[in-house]
Amino acid sequence: MSSNIKRRIVVISGPSGVGKGSINSVLRKDKHLSLEYSVSMTTREPRNGEIDGVHYFFVTNEEFESAIANHELIEHAQFVGNYYGTPRKYVEQQLQNGKNVILEIEVDGATQVIKNEKDVLSIFLMPPTLQELANRLQGRQSETPEVIKQRLDKALLEVPLKHTYQYVVENDTVENAVAKITDILEKENAAQSDG
Ligand code: 5GP
Repeated sequence: MSSNIKRRIVVISGPSGVGKGSINSVLRKDKHLSLEYSVSMTTREPRNGEIDGVHYFFVTNEEFESAIANHELIEHAQFVGNYYGTPRKYVEQQLQNGKNVILEIEVDGATQVIKNEKDVLSIFLMPPTLQELANRLQGRQSETPEVIKQRLDKALLEVPLKHTYQYVVENDTVENAVAKITDILEKENAAQSDG
């Protein structure tokens, strides 16, 4: 039955620090959901412990701009001074292989995917409060206070766009958010196999 299900791009978006990464890593372990993670390209410097090709493809500005010029990215955006984008080839390969692909991206890129790609399921992750978002960004100790402020300012512009997504899920705890998203994915699959 599952082979009849149309494969999708699952877009998980929301402000930096909302917990997209933690939620995705749990969702990806659920083999039943058949979600493959797309590794993004970025010009940001690697953080401690980040591995090229695993967390991101870390590239120079020139390399990124050449990927844009050669139409190698499904979407791309600038976020707080750096480029981020989704390589097209991997996404297309996974969809052809009957997998769903999960993209963990900010809102400008998500808007492009929602507008331009077929078979997209879009989910916006909301922090319980902006204060909680600030606490989470400060708690991970990976950015300077200046960058944290820029990311929070950006969040104020991102949250009002939540209505452009099919689903809005509050990330009060990772466990609850994962349960809600799993439910959404299962319901969408069931609706497809019924129709
Ligand atoms: P970070 O620097 O914290 O890893 O990522 C900054 C923001 O960029 C986060 O909101 C993250 O989800 C988003 N991001 C990561 N990869 C991509 C991508 O390929 N495209 C877009 N548009 N945003 C991305």
